[in-house]
Amino acid sequence: MGVEKQYRRLTQLITGNKTTDGDGVQLTRIIGSRSLMMLDPFLLLDSFGTDKPQEYIGGFPPHPHRGFETVTYLLEGRMRHKDSAGNEGVIEPGGVQWMTAGRGIVHSEMPEQQEGLLHGFQLWVNLPARVKMTAPAYQEFSADQIPVEQRDNGAKVHVIAGQTNQGTVGPVINDFISPVYLDVFLPAGQEFEQTVTMDDNAFVYVIEGELAFSEPLMAGQLGILNEGNTIQIKAKQDTRFLLVAAMPLNEPVVRGGPFVMNTQQELEQAFADFGR
Ligand code: FE
Repeated sequence: MGVEKQYRRLTQLITGNKTTDGDGVQLTRIIGSRSLMMLDPFLLLDSFGTDKPQEYIGGFPPHPHRGFETVTYLLEGRMRHKDSAGNEGVIEPGGVQWMTAGRGIVHSEMPEQQEGLLHGFQLWVNLPARVKMTAPAYQEFSADQIPVEQRDNGAKVHVIAGQTNQGTVGPVINDFISPVYLDVFLPAGQEFEQTVTMDDNAFVYVIEGELAFSEPLMAGQLGILNEGNTIQIKAKQDTRFLLVAAMPLNEPVVRGGPFVMNTQQELEQAFADFGR
C-alpha cells in the first residue's frame, strides 16, 4: 500500500540582499535578513561567489558562535578554519563542514588563496533548546567523501545529508532536525523528485539555470515550498540547485550577532561569556 503523493507548491520567492560580513567579505544574505528572517530551523543562508580577491580576502577573523550549527559548503576555492579548541583544517572545493557550535567556540574562517574564484554557501541551522549548550563538534567531509548519484536522465546529485529516492545516503548525521541537503544538477527538460517529511520546512535555491514551478525560479532565487511529502522539480534550462529540508523546532528564537538562544537572558549570558 503506497502513501499518496502530496506535491509541494512554491509559496514564496526570495531574492537575497547584498551585504558584507566578517572583514569586508561581499555576500548575498538570502535567509536571515529583511526579506526572510528565518525558515525554521534555518536561521541564515549566505551565498558568496566572486573572483575579486578584495571581495573575500579579509575573510572572517576570530568570532564566537553559540546555540546553533554552521554548515559551510564550498563549490570553488579553499577556506581555512581554526578554532579556540585547537581544531584546524581546510575546506576544499566540493567539501562540507557541519559545525555544531553548541555552548560555544571562537573560530576564524579565512580564504586559503590570494586569487581566483571563491564560491560557496553558509547555512545556519538552529539547535533545540535541550542541546544548545552541548559540546562543540565537527562533521567534515571532502568532495570524495560525499556520494554523487548519477541518474539515467543525466541528473547528478551530491548527497550531503539525507537520502535520495534512489537510496543514496549523505554522510552528515543530525538527529535533531533530520536534514536533507542535496546539490543537484538537472539537465534542461528533465525532472527530479524527492520524498520529504510532510511538514518539514523546505527550500530550493537556484545556483545557475532556471526551474519551472508555478512561476519560474531563476538563478540567485530561493523558493519556499509548502507542506507535502513530495518535491517535484523540472528544469527549464540546465540547472544547478540546492534542495534543503529539515524539521522545524517550533521554539522561541532570540538572536543577536553570532548567538542564537531561546531567551533574552540566555542571549545576554552569551554576550557576557564571550566578552562582547
Ligand atoms: Fe563563523
